[in-house]
Amino acid sequence: MAIKLPIYFDNHATTQVDPRVIDAMLPYFNEKFGNAASRNHAFGWVAEEGVEEARAQVAQLINATPKEIVITSGATESDNLAIKGVAAMYREKGNHIITQVTEHKAVLDTCKRLEKEGYEVTYLPVEKDGRINLDDLRRAITPKTILITIMYANNEIGVIQPIAEIGKIAKEKGIFFHVDGVQAIGKIPVDVQKDGIDLLSISAHKLYGPKGVGALYVRRKNPRVQLTAIIDGGGHERGMRSGTLNVPGIVGLGKACDLCRQEMAEETVKLSGLRDRLKNGIMGKLDETYINGSIEHRLPHNINISFAYVEGESLLMGINDIAVSSGSACTSATLEPSYVLKALGVGEDLAHTSIRFGLGRFNTVEEVDYVTGRVVETVERLRELSPLYEMAKEEGIDVSKMNWKTA
Ligand SMILES: *Cc1c(COP(=O)(O)O)cnc(C)c1O
Repeated sequence: MAIKLPIYFDNHATTQVDPRVIDAMLPYFNEKFGNAASRNHAFGWVAEEGVEEARAQVAQLINATPKEIVITSGATESDNLAIKGVAAMYREKGNHIITQVTEHKAVLDTCKRLEKEGYEVTYLPVEKDGRINLDDLRRAITPKTILITIMYANNEIGVIQPIAEIGKIAKEKGIFFHVDGVQAIGKIPVDVQKDGIDLLSISAHKLYGPKGVGALYVRRKNPRVQLTAIIDGGGHERGMRSGTLNVPGIVGLGKACDLCRQEMAEETVKLSGLRDRLKNGIMGKLDETYINGSIEHRLPHNINISFAYVEGESLLMGINDIAVSSGSACTSATLEPSYVLKALGVGEDLAHTSIRFGLGRFNTVEEVDYVTGRVVETVERLRELSPLYEMAKEEGIDVSKMNWKTA
């Protein structure tokens, strides 16, 4: 089968909209264009029906009820609403929030904002495998703790946190538990009951739906969570998030969730097979390559590998017909390596030469084999040019003690 270039292996950044999702959305741009808040005519009713069906589809994927689904513009907004909404509503009860260092910026920056407003935030460290230590969590809890916010799975390394265990601890202590579920929902089973989750952030464009739409699950009983809104006006979404609903987007979110629910089991087998083929293909041919984060507690479609003795930028340039992400922020204003890899204790050199491979629904085995070949050939070529690699191989010099940047 002919391969179409460039190849997309960056499915943690965003995903292609599934054609079946597009088909579901299309009527809501024209013949069903009504405002879902219009209560007096059929145009409004039809739009509202589409929204309510989508709400039920989202709820079903995570074992919630439709009334517990608040539509937002995406997971950044969901994270903000969950954290700021609980912080403001329960300020009398306490001002302490617990999170961890490898969260997405939507959580970390929200917490930093709250610190400026007088809240206290504990940022738990992670172990070498990328997971938090539950004893650290227990020790961090104080009588002032109102919220624990820990992501389900990390967007760089795909590492899955012990969510059900955290949910149990939160429940025992009477603390609300928010989870940024973006990377896990639709990919692995996420169940707000079994996992003890009180608030859950969802984004459509990470699960083959459209951009700019998402949801926040807000538990209604055992316990009931109340939120202070951050967007006022009109009282949509039971007062928690005002604004005219993005009906086509919401219908797309619902359809995307429905497809994930039906196809998850099969898709997991396919994607973990492709991922393992990629990992084994690359690591079987190249020495001095390292997997970042737990392999056991990991999303089926993620692998993040560091390549020693190559330069990060040269590596990315060498495989520029493949869309991946790197642990190096060289392309942005700073030269800082990924804060996620740093938190795992990965050295700067290996962080700069790490690559995140994010597989998805539309990837094929032919693409995996092509990418494997390109990566292996590029790393081998770069290492041939590397005096450090040669020294290490021939003379056994410990290059980790050398200054990499001047080399
Ligand atoms: C992409 C992502 C977000 C942000 O979601 P948007 O819908 O793009 O705002 C938040 N958290 C994680 C873990 C993500 O991967």
